[in-house]
Formats: sequence, C-alpha cells, structure tokens
Amino acid sequence: MTLDDIKRVFEEKTGKAPEGIVTAPGRVNLIGEHTDYNGGFVLPMAIDKKTIVAWARRDDNILNLIPEEPDDIYTTIDLDQPVEKTEVKWANYVRGVIWGMQQKNVPMSGMDLMYVSTVPIGSGLSSSAALEMSTAMAVLQAAGQTMDRYEMALLCQKAEHDFAGTPCGIMDQAISALGQDGHALLLDCVSGDQTLIPFDCSHAKLLVCDTKVKHALNDGGYAARRDQCYSAAEKLGVKLLREATADQVDAVVASDDYTDKEKMRVRHVVGEIQRTVDAVKVLEQNDFDAFGKLMFGSHNSLRDDYEVSCVELDKIVEIAATCEGVYGARMTGGGFGGCAIVLVKADNADATQAKIEAEFRATFDHDCAIFATKPAKGACIIE
Ligand code: ADP
Ligand code: MG
Repeated sequence: MTLDDIKRVFEEKTGKAPEGIVTAPGRVNLIGEHTDYNGGFVLPMAIDKKTIVAWARRDDNILNLIPEEPDDIYTTIDLDQPVEKTEVKWANYVRGVIWGMQQKNVPMSGMDLMYVSTVPIGSGLSSSAALEMSTAMAVLQAAGQTMDRYEMALLCQKAEHDFAGTPCGIMDQAISALGQDGHALLLDCVSGDQTLIPFDCSHAKLLVCDTKVKHALNDGGYAARRDQCYSAAEKLGVKLLREATADQVDAVVASDDYTDKEKMRVRHVVGEIQRTVDAVKVLEQNDFDAFGKLMFGSHNSLRDDYEVSCVELDKIVEIAATCEGVYGARMTGGGFGGCAIVLVKADNADATQAKIEAEFRATFDHDCAIFATKPAKGACIIE
C-alpha cells in the first residue's frame, strides 16, 4: 500500500483523515545468535519492511484498533478501564504498550489506529516488535511527546513479556527503535550499550530467505539449551558464558566434568560472541569477504554445536555457498525454521535468489520466500 492508499483506506474506515502516520521496522540479526541470554553481543539491523500506523483522535476514551486483515479481530481498548490482556492475541502487544505508556504518565485519549504491515508475520523478522514500536510512536506523536529510544525499547519489551507472554531479549525492540540507514547495531546484552556499526550495502544485497517452516521443539528447545549454558557457566565459576575465555573452552571440552551437550553449547556461545566482536572489526573496514566467512562459521556452529538449525535452513546456506558472488550465509533468529540471510554482491543477487528458489523447491515440497533488503532506519514519524 502506498501512503495515499493508507490515507484513503483510513478515511473509508473511520470517516476522517489521519492526523499522523508513523512507522517501525522489522529486523534481521546479522550475527550473534543465542548469545543474548549468555550476556554476549548481538548485531541486528533494521530492514525495509515495516509496520505503519495511521491514527486520528476520537471524541471518546476508546482506542479503536483497526487491523489490516479483514479476518483479524477488530478490537477496542477502553482507557477508562484497567488495561489488561485479553484473548485477542494481536491486540495484546498493543495493550502492553498502552499500559506501559500509562505507567509513564503519557497523556492519552481516544484514537482510531489503523495498522498496515509489510513485515512477514511470525517469520522471525520481528513483526511483533514492529507492532509494539509503531504503537508507541503513534501514542507519543499524538501526545506531542518524545521518549528516549532505549526507554521505548524497554517499554515495548515489557509489553511483549507481560502481555504477549514472550520472554524475549531486548534486541528486537532496540533495533526497531534505534536502527539507522546503512548501519547495524551492536548491542551489549549485559550493559545495554549500543553502538552503530557501518554496514555499507551500496555494492551488496542481503537476501532474506524465509523457509516458511516452524518445526516443533520436541526436546523443549530453547529452555534446554539455556539450562545447559547456565549449568556449564556455574561449573566454570562464571555468572554468564560471556565471561568465559577461549582457553576455558578448551579446558571444558577436555574435561569429564561437563556433559557432551554442555561442551557443545559452550563452544558455540563463546565462539559466537567472538565472531560478533570480529564481525564489527571487519565491517568497520568494509571487509565483506571476512564478514561472509564469519557468517558461515556462525551457521556451522549453530547447526553442529547448538543444534538449532533444520534441513531447510541448511539447504539454503548450502546452495548459497555454491553461488557466485556470495560472501556468506547463515540462519538468523532462534532457529528450527524461520529465515536465513545471504550476503551477496549486488550484481549476483538476482541469479543467487533464482538458484536458491529453484533448488529449494526441487528439494522440499513448497517454496521459500526471498526478498532483498538493506540496513534501514528505525521507527520514525512519516507525517
Ligand atoms: P515475529 O515477531 O517473528 O513476526 P512473533 O510470534 O513474535 O513473530 O509475533 C507474531 C505475532 O505478532 C502475530 O501472531 C500477531 O499476533 C502479531 N502481529 C505482528 N504484526 C502484526 C500486524 N501488523 N497485525 C496484526 N498482528 C500482528
Ligand atoms: Mg517477535
């Protein structure tokens, strides 16, 4: 939908023109996977897929939430009542943000809020953070206020924890709030420190390849890995694996005190944190060849030591590795499905995309969905 389309549809649905239009993007994580809860670093970038909210004031105290899909549940929030979660799943992300804004004493009265999104929903590209952050932007714009961007991210993260029931880290909301054109964002998951890292994609493209699968985690997936990381850290005498050195990893691997799984998890986490630190150095020198090698290294480690990849993700990375002009590829996000990313020279991007699509389709009984993206800016007011 173009901006004009959005204005037209808003008028059709509410009988008035929007007073403001805001947006917040989805994201991919370039490197630094399963490092957040180990106190490590992550390196996400905002993508040029985003959620847009058009809004206008109402005469009452009702927030009228108008979703994009006709079959999504249209719902309201009565500001005169305590804001609580309901069975309308998508609106809980919004409710959480409204609750958070009330806690910060941001003045609110009735509004019509219409949501339009180009972020694929539930694919691991953080449509949820885009939904929260765009809501926060709309509320602040209507109130004529601003808020520190990291504070907004924390507010939206809390919404996701308490109202949507997803105990996520801070990455998704932080990058949606803080992304900048042409940059990735290095986030220190212990201190919250944020550093913009140049990621000049003028001669390269980042292909986002959605496997469109989400495998069930029959072994309790994340929780099991988290526990293995924490038990290994405890045995090592460190609070979080972030503090473990490469020498300690060697000692862990050689020791009988650790289970095989603990050894593998430690090797991934410590290696991945180092790869993320190294990625920042090589990106600052615009060295995409070196960055691509780190991407492949990250994928192999997630596949072999962390065991969170799947055949579909592995296949995309395997095909990408045979394509001309590809610097690197890896799964991104939590794993077991979702998306892989492929960094490729701009001139080779179309051929690479076509090859991955064809070989993926020939291997599995469905298509993958691929789009090219570049580091985009974070949440902003459109008008
Ligand atoms: P991801 O954030 O990776 O897309 P999540 O499972 O965290 O996946 O969030 C997806 C959920 O967020 C959807 O099931 C839906 O409830 C909600 N959501 C996100 N964006 C929208 C939107 N534009 N309209 C309605 N619901 C949305
Ligand atoms: Mg999400």
